[in-house]
Amino acid sequence: MSLSQLFRNGGCPISFELFPPKTPAGFESLYEHVESLKQFDPAFFTCTYGAGGSTQNSTLDVVREVKRRTGKPVASHLTCVGSTQDQLRSYLTEAGALGVDYIVALRGDPPKGETSFTAVEGGFRYANELVDLIHREFPAFGIAVAGYPEVHQEAVDANVDLENLKRKVDAGADCVVTQLFYDNDDFFRFRDACQAAGIEIPIIPGLLPITNFAQAQRIASMCKARLPQGLVDRFNENDTADWQLKVGIEHAQQQTNDLIRRGIDGLHLYVLNKSQAAAEVLAGVDRG
Ligand code: FAD
Repeated sequence: MSLSQLFRNGGCPISFELFPPKTPAGFESLYEHVESLKQFDPAFFTCTYGAGGSTQNSTLDVVREVKRRTGKPVASHLTCVGSTQDQLRSYLTEAGALGVDYIVALRGDPPKGETSFTAVEGGFRYANELVDLIHREFPAFGIAVAGYPEVHQEAVDANVDLENLKRKVDAGADCVVTQLFYDNDDFFRFRDACQAAGIEIPIIPGLLPITNFAQAQRIASMCKARLPQGLVDRFNENDTADWQLKVGIEHAQQQTNDLIRRGIDGLHLYVLNKSQAAAEVLAGVDRG
């Protein structure tokens, strides 16, 4: 089933995003959390593709093992960073042979210390080129791409960013998964703009439940996501770990319930290799 069909079947399918651990203990812990996440009957799991080459091989290890243990479909993220087109083809061939179902096709970020992205010789400059390659040469994969409710940091403005998102859709993407955001109005404004621009594939909100305010500030600033002032004020009422977790979970639960009430095709949760926060958020959510 294609990703767009999957998300248009109702029931608010959920995907969980993992990242490749750095140690054997990290892998074991990840698989324990994946086991616990199975209770929410996710439609699929995804695993990120490390910037700069450090964890790229581990992405396929994670998705293969998660699929083996859960029987669920899996998606490998893939970026254009540091790879020629032939290297990307080799990765995709290996992913196909391992039973990977979907690819989250990305350009990737410029390496640390660099402000702009430079393609390697024989590589791609933008994600739409990678989508095009996958669509033409690896048609068995469903393709998800990234979208930015608060506009990608390098884009001149929201309209240009949307035109560039449309290039990925026209190249063959089946669904858009958004960057994390903490104000649902940003998501719905973005989704309306996508629809007005003729983007008809499902736009899936990506949420990262906050478990620690300092970490959320770091991640939000990296992704240029805005933390609403009301939420910041709530966090600042008390600096204990319990309070931060409580406020973070409450906010994610309110966000999720509001998204579902206003109508979404699915939900992508950035779980950071842990199950507790996702479990607490989803425990209070009616997926319809
Ligand atoms: P693109 O779609 O190529 O866009 C990059 C910039 O170029 C944008 O400003 C866009 O407006 C502009 N642009 C795009 N196409 C064109 C064009 N044809 N001509 C001119 N300008 C253009 N990073 C990782 O390293 N590993 C991961 O696993 C990973 N997973 C992610 C998952 C999700 C759901 C999201 C939202 C992000 C993820 N990222 C990941 C981060 C992502 O790599 C960065 O946000 C990166 O800076 C942009 O990637 P992109 O695919 O959106 O790029």
